[in-house]
Amino acid sequence: MINPDDTIAAISTPIGEGGIGIVRLSGPDAGPILRQVFRPARATAPLEPRHLTYGHIVEPITGERIDEVLAAFMPAPHTYTRQDVAEIQAHGGIVPLQRILALVLREGARLAEPGEFTLRAFLHGRLTLDQAEAVLDIVQARTAAALRLAMEQLGGRLTGPVRALRADLLATLAYLTAAIDFPEDEIPPHDVAGTLCDAQERIAALLATADQGRVYRQGVRTAIVGRPNVGKSSLLNALLRESRAIVTPVPGTTRDTLEEVLNLRGVPFVLVDTAGITQSRDMVEQLGVERSRRAIAQADLVLLVVDGSEPLDERDTAIAALVGDRTTLLVVNKCDLPVVADPATIMALLPPLPRGGGAGREVVHLSALTGEGLDALEAAMVDAVLGGQVLVSNAALVTNPRHQEALSRAAASLASAGRALADGLPLDCVSIDVSEAVSALGEITGETVSEDLLDAIFGRFCLGK
Ligand code: GDP
Repeated sequence: MINPDDTIAAISTPIGEGGIGIVRLSGPDAGPILRQVFRPARATAPLEPRHLTYGHIVEPITGERIDEVLAAFMPAPHTYTRQDVAEIQAHGGIVPLQRILALVLREGARLAEPGEFTLRAFLHGRLTLDQAEAVLDIVQARTAAALRLAMEQLGGRLTGPVRALRADLLATLAYLTAAIDFPEDEIPPHDVAGTLCDAQERIAALLATADQGRVYRQGVRTAIVGRPNVGKSSLLNALLRESRAIVTPVPGTTRDTLEEVLNLRGVPFVLVDTAGITQSRDMVEQLGVERSRRAIAQADLVLLVVDGSEPLDERDTAIAALVGDRTTLLVVNKCDLPVVADPATIMALLPPLPRGGGAGREVVHLSALTGEGLDALEAAMVDAVLGGQVLVSNAALVTNPRHQEALSRAAASLASAGRALADGLPLDCVSIDVSEAVSALGEITGETVSEDLLDAIFGRFCLGK
């Protein structure tokens, strides 16, 4: 494990050209290192804690002025990491920031690992693990709704109920342990079955929010597919105009591409393979099907576009056959022209869903040219992923698959404990299950957590966070 008590430094703003850029230090030597490289403009002005001081970063040996900056020193414990923290606000260029960073490293700081500032906030007890994860969600939020959920998680909206659950189960565990170890003694009674039942209900209520939470946090990967000329790029452009789309470079994904994110009623729809949509029209047809197949494979939601003003042909059929069990909206485009395609034939294009019924299969008529029907498509897209649920406020929402998985494990252990109790098995068996549930809940907030898990979580952070 990396040492959480030495002094680390990193450039905490994105690398590139910007108005300002920040080099941040955390650890016992943050203050001394800052004083070593920073010269206040007024020689008499000390670096007052929590005040910005104007001055220069100066190479201590040569006296060379490297940049004009504002510097701040924040003493522990009321800081992000609960350690001494120093921040140097420099001009936001690659060279000045790297020179400042090199200087503070030379003066004794160590280059921070990705996420190490936030890891320290967790290790030093300022944030629980789910709150630390919320920090990443805030940085990566794609809509205002996603930001709000992440902020609520940072504020402890999930921590609270999970800790309360864990505390109740710990009380049960204490009772079970006493009853096992000292069966002869008078032990204050405890309603084990009732507590288990109640805890299961509370976990189920949390888990019920997970599908919705995931939609807001991760976004809905959406593929627009269809044969050439049906209006895919026209539809894409119409949707992007409506939603004031965010186009984000996505570092770390295998494809080195820009992602377009549609914000429809607060739900982020991440469009996959938009390059395939907008590419030149005289592509080899084989490629059209291949591209659609790939886009569909990555998608949670498929918009299958057909041209309503023309009879359907075998290319429509070929692409429709690819959607499989994906939630699919059949978009009949060009409804400003006389409709020729037959709606029944169109529906028949879609392979039947294993779960049956009409869910996950809707038809929307629209015109990407005039915008008619676009509203209905947006409503259908949101509906398709949220199933008519609206974003609830004031309740904990499980947004992170890791938390969902830990809650599911806790639920399974409690169910098993309940069965053991009902079957009259020895209390040992009940106790083992309850203790597994306690430890699964502890993984969410970080009370029980392995080093590997910490590496996995904080490794996803960017440098300097
Ligand atoms: P793609 O190959 O599927 O991306 O199709 P495009 O978006 O490039 O559209 C093909 C042609 O259909 C273009 O000439 C568009 O202007 C036209 N088009 C697209 N949507 C509509 C529509 O709703 N109504 C009409 N009348 N024409 C459309």
